[in-house]
Parts: sequence; structure tokens; C-alpha cells
Amino acid sequence: MNSYGHIIGGAEVPSLDGRTMESIDPYTREPWATVAMGSAADANAAVTAARQAFDSGPWPRMGYEKRQEILHRLADLMIENAEELALADTRDMGKPITQAHHDVARSAWNVRFFADHARLTAAEAYPMDSGHHAYSTFGPAGVAVAISPWNFPLMLSTWKVAPALAWGNTVVLKPAEDTPVSVTIWARLALEAGLPPGVLNVVHGFGPDSVGEALTHNPEVDRITFTGESTTGKIIGAAASKHLIPVSLELGGKGANIVFDDADIDNAVNWAIQAIFRNAGQVCLAGSRLFVQRGIHDEFMERYVRAAQAMKQGDPKDPATEFGPLASKTHFEKVTSYFDTLEADGGRVVTGGVGEGWFVDPTIIVDAPPAARVCREEIFGPVVVVQPFDTEEEVVAIANDTKYGLNAMVFTENLSRAHRVADNLNAGTVWVNCFFIRDLRAPFGGVGESGVGREGGNFSREFFTEPKAVVMQINR
Ligand code: NAD
Repeated sequence: MNSYGHIIGGAEVPSLDGRTMESIDPYTREPWATVAMGSAADANAAVTAARQAFDSGPWPRMGYEKRQEILHRLADLMIENAEELALADTRDMGKPITQAHHDVARSAWNVRFFADHARLTAAEAYPMDSGHHAYSTFGPAGVAVAISPWNFPLMLSTWKVAPALAWGNTVVLKPAEDTPVSVTIWARLALEAGLPPGVLNVVHGFGPDSVGEALTHNPEVDRITFTGESTTGKIIGAAASKHLIPVSLELGGKGANIVFDDADIDNAVNWAIQAIFRNAGQVCLAGSRLFVQRGIHDEFMERYVRAAQAMKQGDPKDPATEFGPLASKTHFEKVTSYFDTLEADGGRVVTGGVGEGWFVDPTIIVDAPPAARVCREEIFGPVVVVQPFDTEEEVVAIANDTKYGLNAMVFTENLSRAHRVADNLNAGTVWVNCFFIRDLRAPFGGVGESGVGREGGNFSREFFTEPKAVVMQINR
């Protein structure tokens, strides 16, 4: 079995108490890697290393151009090692290998984009009438803690860490306990690319009473960026408030996917499939509530059910596989618990249900009343609830009737309606006639229990820097 340590202060090290944990491949349901299992002591050692690297190391002082060069070398190494990185996520959490390769390409692009963005973004000058002028600077904030979930292990970690590094911060990254391997390989590559010791540290372990909790309570930390469940986000927000440090929270979702009568049906079916069955539905942005206008409802459903049933399930290491198992036994049990309460809540499975091993087949539910658990809670699995609707006003009201507000999708060929509905939906991102497409300059984040703050482009700059105003007298 391969083994992986923490990366602290430029070295790969075991836990201070020597403990390890196993990473389970959810397809074989066997351990495939041994990983150092950290405690508060390892977490605090990593923060100390990051603090020293920030306070007296070269990284915050070397300038944008040199940092850009090193980060581009890292992105090159990621592409050269794409197979190993992709396989790590596939084995850690069952993601089909073609999707894992897609994640690696996006991860490398995250690194390149933020390296370039930090180098090329202008600061502002403010001409004043009083014989003065003012300008802004954006210095690094300090030590950033990044805590990531298991559903896009490498992609979401790079999305957090790359802007932090590009703006000159040092980082302690804690990946989810179920998916520790890809970011460890990534941190090894970062050292090979020339990142100085202590700039990117990775510590493995659990959240409560473990590494995650220690990192979020450490007073030497200047920023916390977290992606995960809304309940965890509230705990981390409370911890950050004790030291009055900014926190960015990317949390859960219950995305509404709205298909109007005038939509291009093929396009809408294709994206509605991707929106809930890609990565076996373990996607914060999943279109888990699908609303179809009455006029095309029956035709849409016929095609949609057929497409769901045609998804190729199997070994996630096989490039032909489109649909893999759920990431862990615990998560499989959580998702299947929704089938136990379905009959009492109301709702009927049209296709899908519990599959072999830790698979849940692509599942489509109809006739569920709005109060049913499947309509209100984030299932985080391949389970979609479909509901017909009649009018635009009606569907916007139901779509907004959720505590979440991460994203929504709208399918229509009517331009005015597209703009109007996008404007009226209570969500951080609205996709029109597409899904999952991102521009890294655009804000990303959610409203309500989907999060606090935005990431991307200048929004990441705002978070990972201390903006400063300098006011000068110029008429002496
Ligand atoms: P989770 O909240 O259980 O865990 C996320 C991370 O937080 C893990 O690394 C975990 O070890 C750590 N953690 C847990 N408790 C902690 C604590 N008390 N203190 C510090 N760290 C702690 O989430 P998950 O199950 O790994 O991920 C799934 C969730 O993530 C879903 O709700 C999904 O919607 C959300 N998500 C959101 C986005 C987004 O961009 N908004 C993206 C992906 C996933």
C-alpha cells in the first residue's frame, strides 16, 4: 500500500504520535493507502511553520513575477503528473477517472489563473481635490488555513490555496479525512516546483477534536477559507469570530433547475443529467430540484428517465465509466436513509434506488410534497426530485423557497425571461442554458445557508490580502 505523510515545513513527516489511518477505495471497499493521522499537535506545528515562512521567509517578499513563475512550474508539473493525481481522487472517493482528469486540468488552471491574476491586477488611484491623492495596495494577509471537502478533493483545494499563494500568503491545508492523497502529491510537486519550505503545509486528520478544530482555533492564523457542510460552516464561523479574523464559507446547496416550455429539450435533458448524476450527485451545485413546465413535462420526463437509465456504471478506473459509487460507507448510509422516509413523506421513485456495494443508482423521484425531506434537505447524492409547474411566478417562488442559495439553472429560449428569472432567483450563480461553466474572474459563493463571501478574481484578492489606503499630500 502507498503511504503518505503530512507536509510540514518543506518535509513529508509522520504524525508526532505516529498514528496513521487508511484510505478506503469505495469501489473495492478495501484500503488502498496509509496516511498519517494528525492531531492538534501536528496542526499547530504546521501553523508554526507557515507563520515562520510568512514572517521571515522569502515567499511574501519575492514579488509577483517570481511567484508567478514558480506557480506556473507547479501547474506544469500537475499536468505532467495528471495520471497519478487523477487516480488518487478516483481511488479515494470513487470519482470516474475521466471526471478526475477533468478536475486535474481545472486544478492546474486554478494555479495558472491566480498566479497571472495576482501579477496583472492593477490597484487603484483616487485623485482628490484637496491637493492630495490616495491609492490602494494589497499586501498578503498572513497565514491562511484552508479546509476542504471530499467531493472535489484536488480541485476545491487548489481553488482555495492558489489565490492565497499567489497573493503572497502561506497556507495550511487540511483535506477531508476521506480524500487525503491527491493534495499530498500536489504539495510534493509544489516543493519540486520551488515553493519555499513552510509556504504550503498539508495536515491530515479529522475535524472535531482533531486537526480541523485546532487549526480554526489557532490564534496565529489570519484567514480561514472553508468548503463543506453548512452545519460545519457555522462552527468554523464561530471559531473565527473569537480571533476576529475573516472567514470565507462555501457551504451546501439545493439547486433549482428550471426548464421552461420553450427550452431546447435535448440541451436541457443533457444538462439536467449532468447536474445531478455527475460525480454521483456529490456536488454542492447539483440541480437536485428539477422543475419542468407542464407543456413539455411528459416528453421531457420520457427522455430524462431514459438518459438516467443509460448512464454507464462501473469501475471508476475504467475510462468508459460515467457513474461510480458513493464516496464512503457513511455517506452511502446517509443518502440511502432518504429512501427510508420517502413513503411516509410522500414521493415515488420512478427509476433508481439502492444499487450494488456503495452504489446508489441514478434516482428520479416524483410526487413529493414541498415539505418532504427530499425536497428540502441536501441529499448530496444521485437523487433528483422532479416537479411540474405552470407559471414563471410560481416556479420562481418555489425555487426560492429554500434555506440554501448557491446556484440555479434556467433553460429557456426567451431572452427576456432568461434575464428576468436570473434576476429574481436568490442564488450566488445562475446558469442559463448550461451548467458548471466557470470564469475564474466571476464571483462564486452562496446566499443564506450556502455561505458567506465570494471567491474568484478580485473577490479572492479582497479576502487573501489586507487592502491598504495610502493618502499623500502632493501640492507642497
Ligand atoms: P464537512 O463539513 O463534513 O467537512 C468538510 C471539511 O471540514 C473536512 O475537511 C472536515 O474534516 C472538516 N471539518 C469537519 N468538522 C470540522 C470542525 N468542527 N472544525 C474544523 N474542520 C472541520 O463536509 P463534507 O461532507 O466533506 O462535504 C460535503 C459538503 O460540502 C456538502 O454540504 C457540500 O454542499 C459542501 N460543498 C460546498 C461547496 C461550495 O462551493 N459551496 C463545494 C463542495 C462541497
